[in-house]
Amino acid sequence: MTANADANADASALVELRGVTKRYRAPGAPDVEVLRGVDLRVTAGETLAIVGPSGSGKSTLLNLMGALDRCTQGEVLLDGVNLQQRSERELAAVRARDVGFVFQLHHLLPQCTVRENVLIPTLAAGPGDRSEPPADRAQRLLHRVGLGERMDFLPHRLSGGERQRAAVVRALINRPRLLLADEPTGSLDQHTSDALASLLLELNREEGVALVVVTHSLPLAGRMHRTLLLRQGRLAPPEGGA
Ligand code: ADP
Ligand code: MG
Repeated sequence: MTANADANADASALVELRGVTKRYRAPGAPDVEVLRGVDLRVTAGETLAIVGPSGSGKSTLLNLMGALDRCTQGEVLLDGVNLQQRSERELAAVRARDVGFVFQLHHLLPQCTVRENVLIPTLAAGPGDRSEPPADRAQRLLHRVGLGERMDFLPHRLSGGERQRAAVVRALINRPRLLLADEPTGSLDQHTSDALASLLLELNREEGVALVVVTHSLPLAGRMHRTLLLRQGRLAPPEGGA
């Protein structure tokens, strides 16, 4: 836990949501209340799947956990730090240091090589733990995910699965404690999707990073320690057990 930790924080929780609501305002239209009192604890190193219908607020929830957005009411704590009380600049620092994101589309920069792409987050993260220099870590992780021969390729020369693996390395480059993946296999065929899921779970163990995956895929969800269903603005165990 950091020096800025909230006095009421639960020391064993990596992420804690307490009574979180999120309303979107659109001019000339009624507010949309997407989250209506979400409570959640994610412990260090665990794996969690969040499932739910399209439009139920899964991406909204993930963005709040990763300090990409702020909730309307309630509290979001990341590693004991209450994100509601932090400035935009502090939130950016938390994101760069503690959180890795993987999205449905890889969002690699087309004009940069794979190696350059995965190193970009290190520019924003500040010194941190540099026991393994970023260039060495990039090289090691790219080998680890099977991209050792592709490091100096531009993204357009990679397959869909290879691009997602590069995006996973980019998400892990700063040694985050939390990896957030929003439909990471949504654009992949079944075989490639299964392989990416295996890789995410292996890296969860090897890197000790907690993994929260939003997915439509019940087979993928079933491989996580637990699954929660987001419906009508609340999180609950899915019917038939977690
Ligand atoms: P999911 O990821 O489960 O499909 P989202 O979190 O993307 O759901 O969206 C939940 C609801 O919130 C949707 O009705 C969506 O239209 C609305 N929404 C999401 N982002 C915004 C935004 N920035 N402004 C207004 N409404 C939004
Ligand atoms: Mg979504």
